[in-house]
Amino acid sequence: MNIPLVDLKAQYKTVEEKAMKAVSEVLSSASYIMGKDVTEFEKEFAEYIGVKHAISVGNGTDALVLALMACGIGEGDEVITTPFTFFATAESISFIGATPVFVDVEKDTYNIDPLKIEEKITKKTKAIMPVHIFGQPAKMDEIMAIAKKYNLKVIEDAAQAVGSEYKGKKSGAIGDVGCFSFFPTKNLGCAGDGGIITTSNDNIATIARALRTHGSGENGQRAYNLLNNINEEVKTSEGHDDTVYNPLKYYNYLIGFNTRLDTIQAAILRIKLSNIDNWNEKRRENAKMYDEKLKDTGLTLPFSILESKSVYNMYVVQSGNREEMINKLQDKGISTGVYYPVPMHLQKVYKNLGYIEGDMPVAEYLAHRTFAIPIFPELSIEQKDYIVDTIKDINC
Ligand SMILES: *Cc1c(COP(=O)(O)O)cnc(C)c1O
Repeated sequence: MNIPLVDLKAQYKTVEEKAMKAVSEVLSSASYIMGKDVTEFEKEFAEYIGVKHAISVGNGTDALVLALMACGIGEGDEVITTPFTFFATAESISFIGATPVFVDVEKDTYNIDPLKIEEKITKKTKAIMPVHIFGQPAKMDEIMAIAKKYNLKVIEDAAQAVGSEYKGKKSGAIGDVGCFSFFPTKNLGCAGDGGIITTSNDNIATIARALRTHGSGENGQRAYNLLNNINEEVKTSEGHDDTVYNPLKYYNYLIGFNTRLDTIQAAILRIKLSNIDNWNEKRRENAKMYDEKLKDTGLTLPFSILESKSVYNMYVVQSGNREEMINKLQDKGISTGVYYPVPMHLQKVYKNLGYIEGDMPVAEYLAHRTFAIPIFPELSIEQKDYIVDTIKDINC
């Protein structure tokens, strides 16, 4: 039996009819940039997460970059984050001229260790960027308390965690700002690249909105005023804000970006958003089944903290013989994925930061041991039985 790590075709089948219709409507509307589906999706997503604003962008990496800039972070600043993540987390911090300062992770949750954050705070520290890795929220109470004590912003990298909860609050609604990715393999994936920023802070929302469209128009002017502490009224034009027809389009106030969510992607995401709770629940059921059935194998299973409700973007286990395990599983047709083989502080590109092996012992230990097995919502009973039986067989 062949089982992929993620089966995007199986998921597409479940929404095919609606997606075809929605995409075809966008095509004939010819409203490809910032069309109605974008506005509607932003409203629906903000409501789903429980925030005042959702600002869609071209991808999750841009969401992080714009969120950092909207928090006023830039050249010379430091941002505390985890070394055990996808590169985009650290990359976004470096891209805006700030320095990522890595804090080791917890051995059981794989998330940033709040107990090790304070010792890394300096006069230059401006923000903490926790990542809700593999779909499980980081320990947000502890992180928010530290941020409050030192007056830092908190930017949640929730790229893998759409719909996950911490003490009843959704990821992306806890920090000052949250960032999501709609890359196809995320829990809520579109048919290409996409991303979104969530916040209840009006100023962060205004600046992010301006930055995604060349810092132009009314939003650009408002954002300029906010970033430069200028208190003056901005004249508004009727109705056309942020569209291709915006009459103020050619008046620029900031060096921004062109990073918007395509209307076609928004139309698909609106359909998928109505299924996300159901899909996440299936992932949790699959995880629960693995927790039960794999507990007596040699694998170390993922650990969930009581305060949180993970959405298991990945089900990441640990093995002392990872290479052997994944090769044997591949021989039996079961695909796995290694997340993440090289922690950020040991990446070649960060040589200049001066970290050496041994600086983040937990992340380095995990980097040699972790791998993901299939957990996608459409896994059939036969596929699940086959995965469990195969792992048990290999272990004997
Ligand atoms: C996927 C991901 C991103 C980046 O999202 P893109 O849409 O691929 O740019 C950022 N952070 C984490 C933790 C991710 O998993």
